[in-house]
Amino acid sequence: MGAKYANVIVDISMEKLDKAFQYQIPQELRDTLEVGMQVVVPFGNGRRTLTGYVVELTDVCEFDPSRMKPILEIAEKGIPLEGQLISLAQWMRRTYGATMNQALKTVLPVRKRVQEKTRRKLVRAISLEEAKAYLKLFEQKHQTARLRLMAALMDTPELDYRLAAEQLHLSTATVNKLEEMGILRVETAMVFRNPVKASRLEPHPFDLTASQQAIVEDIGRRMKAGDDRPSLIYGVTGSGKTAVYLELIAGILRQGKEAIVLIPEIALTFQTALRFYKRFGDAVSIINSRLSQGERYDQFERARRGEVRVMIGPRSALFTPFQNLGMIVIDEEHEASYKSETAPRYHARETAIERARMTDAFVVLGSATPSVEAYEKACNGTYCLYRLEQRIFGQALPKVEVVDLREELKSGNRSILSGRLRALMEERLKKGQQVMLFLNRRGYAGFVSCRACGHVLKCPHCDVSLSLHKGGRMVCHYCGYEEQTKRECPSCGSPYIGAFRAGTQQVVEIVEREFPKARVLRMDMDTTRNKDGHERILEAFAEGRADILVGTQMIVKGHDFPSVTLVGVLAADLSLYTNDYRASERTFQLLTQAAGRAGRGREAGIAVIQTYSPKHYSIRAAAAQDYEQFFQKELGYRRLMEYPPAASLLAVYLSDKERERLEEGAAYLKENLKKYSESKRVQMIGPADASVAKVNDVYRKVIYLKGRDPQALTELKEQMELLWQRESILQQLTIQFDRNPMNGF
Ligand code: ADP
Ligand code: ZN
Ligand code: ZN
Repeated sequence: MGAKYANVIVDISMEKLDKAFQYQIPQELRDTLEVGMQVVVPFGNGRRTLTGYVVELTDVCEFDPSRMKPILEIAEKGIPLEGQLISLAQWMRRTYGATMNQALKTVLPVRKRVQEKTRRKLVRAISLEEAKAYLKLFEQKHQTARLRLMAALMDTPELDYRLAAEQLHLSTATVNKLEEMGILRVETAMVFRNPVKASRLEPHPFDLTASQQAIVEDIGRRMKAGDDRPSLIYGVTGSGKTAVYLELIAGILRQGKEAIVLIPEIALTFQTALRFYKRFGDAVSIINSRLSQGERYDQFERARRGEVRVMIGPRSALFTPFQNLGMIVIDEEHEASYKSETAPRYHARETAIERARMTDAFVVLGSATPSVEAYEKACNGTYCLYRLEQRIFGQALPKVEVVDLREELKSGNRSILSGRLRALMEERLKKGQQVMLFLNRRGYAGFVSCRACGHVLKCPHCDVSLSLHKGGRMVCHYCGYEEQTKRECPSCGSPYIGAFRAGTQQVVEIVEREFPKARVLRMDMDTTRNKDGHERILEAFAEGRADILVGTQMIVKGHDFPSVTLVGVLAADLSLYTNDYRASERTFQLLTQAAGRAGRGREAGIAVIQTYSPKHYSIRAAAAQDYEQFFQKELGYRRLMEYPPAASLLAVYLSDKERERLEEGAAYLKENLKKYSESKRVQMIGPADASVAKVNDVYRKVIYLKGRDPQALTELKEQMELLWQRESILQQLTIQFDRNPMNGF
């Protein structure tokens, strides 16, 4: 028996998505009515009728049922485009946890009623991890205005300048200061313009190689046969994946359908954009996160009208309202930017697959270092795997050497540069070639390790690194386990044990001291503070105006530097021991990308990986450039510890200003769900302090739910949502859900 009431929105184009009206569902419609359907309802004093969309079916009555009007009829057979997006929103709400309103706002393009002039936005320019570090700093210094702004930018990476200034009581000076510090960018929107004239289109710049052609043909054959499994193209950078996407999309357009291409913003270079424009001309639109809501809406409207048929952009491009969607391509599918950091915290890959399922479209994923999730599905046949083994121009992959930093310490070298790396630098600089030094530092939370033997202190229950906190406590952010810091290494007894920290600034100083003639550039969150700081530094380096580029992860993505023949990874351990279950995967990806920076030109490159853990499988596999080896080991670990994809993980983020209330609420939640979770074989871990336990006077805790059956987690989430609505002990708390988290809390 279907639900009794339906929430209906009658106007989805205006900013009134939160305005749902409740109607009774007449008996005869209860079995047929679905979310997303268009219905006719009485409105106002009842004489007028309107069509609206069903956004929710429920048995919870929101006002006096005797005064509630019934739905008159279903307006149209089938589910129209908006309806499809609305049911996608419902799927997202159920899967990831959010209010229906939040989910609707994510999938439906919202038009602003007021005409936008050049609206300005505040855009977070640093990672969440880095933001946490600043938050702590501002808190320590009692810089409350900065603190408020930082906290707001952590919750929402983009804020409307005017609104934020009003609501957070910010002065221009505060905003300017944070901009100067590189924490945020003040942006006015801009639209990518098609730089290619119709007369200069290049439908076929080259013939596909045999292996590219084979992939295009096989996917075409499968589409005809109705085999709608997603395809994963696994091939190193430069192996010709993008050329395959272009060819597939051309086929989709010939069938009269449309295509969406997701590319992480940081990897979307002008070169790539140009290739799409040259091939498809004005049929292409490229959106980016700097567009205002209105501009994005305009692009989406053009797509709806069929003026645009290929939409390229970051994760939000997934919701382009194409009438006849034929394909969704996701390049670099392993990138963390495909996971939303606000509710609903959806993953673009999973959501694309769901949208494609609803509209009979095809999904194509591509990566040089596939995510463990995607590759596992490719291995077990849920996805179809294709490989591109060689680079198009046959360039050799760089040679990778691993340097054991423990040995360096033993031989008395305490510098951040090992003997081997220093010697290679000298040699390359002498030849006039360029060097990149890469510090894969991520965030703030320091792990504790031994510099003599490489031992890292980990949680005995969760097998993730413990984080060092004030007062010398080491804490596990999954389960809350704690211990005091040690003075001696529990493994070898050496006194060289402590928190691992190093900054790019320090590295630059050391390098300048050791190579006084070399011109050194630094690229990190401090030096990319200005609007085009990032581009400017990369450009200067590309033009040979510097010999050595020192930087954080930003330097390993996008951009080709043909004169770089040496890449040094200064301490691979920095990303290896962050406190989450994806640390090894992220490290493997970073090291592979970093190594890939060496030798893009004619000269063969060398990458040197310095580490205290030369035996770690992530580092060995990256050195051997052996994805398969890494994947098998990593999957073994995930199975053993029951982490995704071997199991599902649901993080429940709880926060409140009152510490006691938060603790009580968290304990209550856990206690009340115990029986149910046990019956569903779901393990509940925590509550533990979040990796930042207090932000802007708000306390934060996390509970993790882990289980093999994803459906059981969805049910538990729904139980929690109900309790949250009903129980006064929970109502004051802020609760957010994060399924298979990638970015932390
Ligand atoms: P990926 O997306 O895997 O990095 P691309 O498709 O960008 O690879 O290909 C790398 C380079 O090789 C590009 O400059 C592209 O124009 C070129 N290329 C790709 N396929 C071919 C081909 N069949 N013949 C000649 N050049 C090609
Ligand atoms: Zn030791
Ligand atoms: Zn633990």
